[in-house]
Amino acid sequence: MSPKVYIGGKLYDKSDAKISVYDHGLLYGDGVFEGIRSYSGRVFRLKDHVDRLYASAVAIHLRIPISREEMAAAIVDTLAANKLTDAYIRVVVTRGSGSLGLDPRRTTDPQVIIITDLISLYPEELYEHGLKIVTAATIRSHPNTVNPRVKSLNYLNNILAKMEGALAGCLEALMLNHKGEVAECTGDNIFVVRKGEIHTPSVDSGILEGITREAVIGLARQAGYKVFERTMDRYDVYTADECFLTGTAAELIPVVECDGRPLGTGKPGPITRELRQRFGRLVREGEA
Ligand code: PMP
Repeated sequence: MSPKVYIGGKLYDKSDAKISVYDHGLLYGDGVFEGIRSYSGRVFRLKDHVDRLYASAVAIHLRIPISREEMAAAIVDTLAANKLTDAYIRVVVTRGSGSLGLDPRRTTDPQVIIITDLISLYPEELYEHGLKIVTAATIRSHPNTVNPRVKSLNYLNNILAKMEGALAGCLEALMLNHKGEVAECTGDNIFVVRKGEIHTPSVDSGILEGITREAVIGLARQAGYKVFERTMDRYDVYTADECFLTGTAAELIPVVECDGRPLGTGKPGPITRELRQRFGRLVREGEA
């Protein structure tokens, strides 16, 4: 069966799922998106993802042509039409097609696109042995440009940072903010463990407010750990006992080296393992 893609209220075969080359999503990266996951047919934190999508749209002054309830239903229906239970779901809302000029007032038809696909994971051994990361020279966007809290279609900064990581032989790269503080990785939030306590950059460090990040903070607090959201610099990462990343696609993955420094013992630590197990239970068994 050919995958079905939702565009503007209808399902199309993948090969027929097309939008205009005049769409400002393509011409200017003018639009917003979400990356969501389903486990055993249940969409993880669907409402949070839909709310973040609409918040991103408000921030770029884009009116999504359907309600939040219709969006949530469209996501669930697209998943069902593709007979997928464990899937990655990409929701895209573009500004729509207009003239070749920048002016968003001349666009007429914002496009809502929903793609569902099989999830592509990091290789299992990386969850066992941990990732190596390097700090990219390309920084996370300044809050007075496109605020990093907006999940916009313009990911070029993060793509450049990811390429820097790849050139250094790493699958992820650490991005700093405009003040040189630790922000996050190109597609994941970062946490460190120090003396049994957990630290992660605060939202005003210039990060995407990750939904996995929020879930993991909740799980860690439930398990009795202190979690601090604060300003962090690279010293905090280099001298951490443990480090891990969180994100919809990656879930919770250990980091064992940053900029050539082994972190802690150089192996995934016990708190990282414990939180990974707890996260696995949360997504499989649902919210308490
Ligand atoms: N930071 C960035 C830059 C991201 O693209 C993502 C992935 N959406 C995340 C963090 C993790 O967010 P979430 O847990 O909501 O997937």
